[in-house]
Amino acid sequence: MTTEKLYHFVNGERVSGNSGRYGDIYNPALGAVTKQVPLANSSEVEDAIASAQAAFPGWSATPPGRRAQVMFNFRSLIKEHMDELAESVSSEHGKTLEDAKGSITRGLEVVEYACGISQVLKGEFSESVASEVDSWNIRQPLGVCAGITPFNFPAMVPMWMFPMAIACGNTFVLKPSERDPSCPLLLAELMKKAGLPDGVLNVINGDKEAVDTILKDDRVQAVSFVGSTAIGEYIYQTGAAHNKRVQALCGAKNHMVVMPDADMDQVVDAIMGAAYGSAGERCMAISVVVSVGDEPADAIIEKLVPKLDALKVGPYTELSSEMGPVINPAAKERIEGYITKGVEEGAQLVRDGRGTVVPGSENGCFVGATVFDKVTKDMSIYTDEIFGPVLCIVRAESYDEAITMVNEHEYGNGTAIFTRDGDAARNFSNKVQIGMVGINVPIPVPLAFHSFGGWKRSLFGDHAIHGPEGVRFYTKLKTVTSRWPSGIRSGAVFNFKAGGEH
Ligand code: NAD
Repeated sequence: MTTEKLYHFVNGERVSGNSGRYGDIYNPALGAVTKQVPLANSSEVEDAIASAQAAFPGWSATPPGRRAQVMFNFRSLIKEHMDELAESVSSEHGKTLEDAKGSITRGLEVVEYACGISQVLKGEFSESVASEVDSWNIRQPLGVCAGITPFNFPAMVPMWMFPMAIACGNTFVLKPSERDPSCPLLLAELMKKAGLPDGVLNVINGDKEAVDTILKDDRVQAVSFVGSTAIGEYIYQTGAAHNKRVQALCGAKNHMVVMPDADMDQVVDAIMGAAYGSAGERCMAISVVVSVGDEPADAIIEKLVPKLDALKVGPYTELSSEMGPVINPAAKERIEGYITKGVEEGAQLVRDGRGTVVPGSENGCFVGATVFDKVTKDMSIYTDEIFGPVLCIVRAESYDEAITMVNEHEYGNGTAIFTRDGDAARNFSNKVQIGMVGINVPIPVPLAFHSFGGWKRSLFGDHAIHGPEGVRFYTKLKTVTSRWPSGIRSGAVFNFKAGGEH
């Protein structure tokens, strides 16, 4: 059987790879390679950048209302092609179809925000800042922007980027994850169908060679990255060294603090979705529960274990599946290695997901839902991002110890507190050193008209992504000061004067 070979999408056309290098794409539920993706060499990436560069003058001069029209069309096309898009996500990522559709819908919300770009790009105007002088701000596009995206949200994360960049008048080169690139390729074709001129959106597949070419090319003005912290820090430093604007959204270890007064049924339902949804492969997954006192931990374990035993692990093709496989055999091995390490480090293994076999999908990359209790801060299962269905329960003696633990962790993406106490919740949201905070909300992902981003080593750069921060990132500010003299001359002025006199 020949393996299907994918392509790049450059200047409005599918382009076969010519580097001779290919990456394997798994169907994780089968544990088998089903497709191959071409890994671009530098000259192929440069062609994509050249195509975006050539499209920039025309696209940036297109009125925002006409750009928005493309976004309206794109929105309709996504809805029309929802099943096909979800299938492409699930067959390469492994998540359930419902979850895939949910993630596409979150991306769609960014497209909807981009539909209002004329309103969002409106500048500020000050009349008569001095005699006969008016002043105003406009935001103009940067030029060619690039996006480098992770495997875990092949639809949503690219849609955090290119709709905003393009609506702002930029052109774009997307380098999606080489592990599940089919959905981003489909999205680019839908953008063309929506009326986007050729060259405005290009998708180039590849690995480090493609990324390094993007980072070093002078024609690229800005780079948005989402992925792991080690790579994100490299992207930020290398991009900045080449004078680019960079936003790099990175790894996470999200803590849920549970106070003794919390509603434990609500807490356990929240944990099921937040720790095990998408097999824990979410940057906003809850991977640590901090129990304030022993009482919440004991109650959680008692209520959680029967739910875990009933959790339906299986392939996306079984519509009753609640949790799918992890992305590929290497990820399964890495996650199971962490579970083994947690046992060696002395944590108490309450449920063990190693060796999970799903009948009918025996070779699938499944890891069952796993819980450790009595985890301590020095253990690698606590310090490291595992990125799988593994939950650590840590017992803190007090609220102060719990919040200190959250604040001392190197990551700062998301966190949540579960409590009925408004005072504790208010103190937590004020004091916690984390970018996105939930109060009785386990995964506090901001909607598209807010912005998404963490703190500490979860985000390098000055801007969060999409929403108002996305507009700031993808535009540069220009301030115009203009005088239309009435004919009365006041002579030359050599000094700055107070009160805005020019
Ligand atoms: P990854 O860092 O391995 O890959 C991300 C991108 O970087 C891919 O496009 C990949 O091709 C590229 N890349 C990989 N190695 C590279 C190298 N050596 N040099 C240059 N580029 C390289 O991440 P992943 O495994 O695909 O995704 C999972 C990670 O993404 C997790 O850490 C997760 O927390 C993070 N993530 C963060 C957010 C967020 O918003 N903070 C959202 C989603 C995922």
